[in-house]
Amino acid sequence: MIPSDLPASIFRKEVLALSAYKVADAAGMIKLDAMENPYGWPLDIQSSWLDTLKDCPLNRYPDPEGRQLVRALRELEAIPEQFEVLLGNGSDEIIQMLLMALPPTASVLAPAPGFVMYKQLSDSLGLRYHAVPLLAEGFGLDLPAMLAVIAGHQPSVIFIAYPNNPTGNLFSGEAIDGIIKTANGLVVIDEAYAPFANASFMGRLAEYDNLLVMRTVSKLGLAGLRLGYLVGKPEWIGELNKIRLPYNINSLTQLTADFALRHKALFDSQTQRICAEREALLAGLNAMDGLVAYPSAANFILFRTKPGQADAIFTSLKAQGVLIKNLNPQGGLLADCLRVTVGTPEENAAFLQAMGNSLILSQC
Ligand SMILES: *Cc1c(COP(=O)(O)O)cnc(C)c1O
Repeated sequence: MIPSDLPASIFRKEVLALSAYKVADAAGMIKLDAMENPYGWPLDIQSSWLDTLKDCPLNRYPDPEGRQLVRALRELEAIPEQFEVLLGNGSDEIIQMLLMALPPTASVLAPAPGFVMYKQLSDSLGLRYHAVPLLAEGFGLDLPAMLAVIAGHQPSVIFIAYPNNPTGNLFSGEAIDGIIKTANGLVVIDEAYAPFANASFMGRLAEYDNLLVMRTVSKLGLAGLRLGYLVGKPEWIGELNKIRLPYNINSLTQLTADFALRHKALFDSQTQRICAEREALLAGLNAMDGLVAYPSAANFILFRTKPGQADAIFTSLKAQGVLIKNLNPQGGLLADCLRVTVGTPEENAAFLQAMGNSLILSQC
């Protein structure tokens, strides 16, 4: 037996204080909790993908720079030529690399509620984390409050998810401009949901020295690959490349992502279906008694239940075989809130049906 105080004498106190990031078990459920694309690939595309994998030399290390993949990304995602691309094992790893490069006394700023990994990874490294609440009406950025933290703490990195998770809205572009102009540190625009949003800072990189744009293929339909990328001036990307593990993007991911990017039309049509379904789902939720569903520029919808009902509705949905995300435990602006990912029309219908049943039950 390892004595119970031994880990505390070996590991940093920040690590001991963390709780692990938990993912709910979704076996056998209709899975609408994690912003995954619900659609697979047609058989002909699947089989030509398998053909390309046959030639993959698994006995060799991957290309440490992922050169072929970066070429495909540049071409198909309209990455301006003068900027460099850093690849990550998911954009989660890019967030980690950015934070690992900071001095131990650095501070980090992001609006709240926001993406949980910004805080989780800052905490794990012992960095100071400042969360500025969003406006209660419409979940917009509180620009004066953000600027006050910038003036008071000079954060080395500011994360802004555009659209935001878990609220689904796009922040005002002018407010973001104000933040980038005022910040003396880096501003990372996290565009994980760009495929659903029709808005991006990618074309604005040349305007600001301290702007970085982060993307992922996860929400587009390739969550299993684990591939994210950061785009910015060579001076920033060159430094971050030094702390990237040399083979962080495995050969199968490099080949598959390159293949998938060349079938962009398939993903574009899936994205269009998801956006159309999103509007139907929004209307379906808002038609239900006592629910308020918020407009979304992403592939999920945040909605609020009557006070005190969110936990019971979440549990009832789960009992009916539908898994969504319960945000009520996070409190604050997310009290009484649930988040549902847009699925196939059949999955969305099953979800709405189960919601109807839960609302009847919670009225008893
Ligand atoms: C899902 C998500 C990510 C993480 O993406 P991965 O590439 O799968 O690690 C990053 N940012 C936001 C805002 C997200 O919602």
